[in-house]
Amino acid sequence: MASTSVTRETVTQKALRLYPERTVEPLGLGNPGRYSVEGSDGFYEVDLGIFNGGAETCPCPARKPCYHIAMATIHRAQTTTRRRAEARARREAREAVQANLAPLGGVRA
Ligand SMILES: [Zn+2]
Repeated sequence: MASTSVTRETVTQKALRLYPERTVEPLGLGNPGRYSVEGSDGFYEVDLGIFNGGAETCPCPARKPCYHIAMATIHRAQTTTRRRAEARARREAREAVQANLAPLGGVRA
C-alpha cells in the first residue's frame, strides 16, 4: 500500500478503523486505567495513567501516543458513556415510579 504524507492516516484514525475488529479488555477493578489491547502481533498492556496525571504508556515500539493507547482511550470513553446512560436510565425510572406513586402518598397499606 502506498503511503504518503497526504494519505497517511493518523493514530486516531487507525485506532477508530481497527477498534471494531480488535480486542480491548480492561485489566479489572484492581488495575484502573489499564487495558490489554490487541495489536497486529500480540497484546500490549496499556496504562492510561489515570492516577498518574494521564501519563499514558504502552510497551510497543511505536512512537507515542500509539494506536493501542488510542484504542484503550476509545474503550474507556465508550464504557464511561454507557455507564452514564445506564445511571441516567435508572434515575429516570426511579423518578417515574415515584411520580406514579405520588397520588397514593397518603394511602396506608
Ligand atoms: Zn502501543
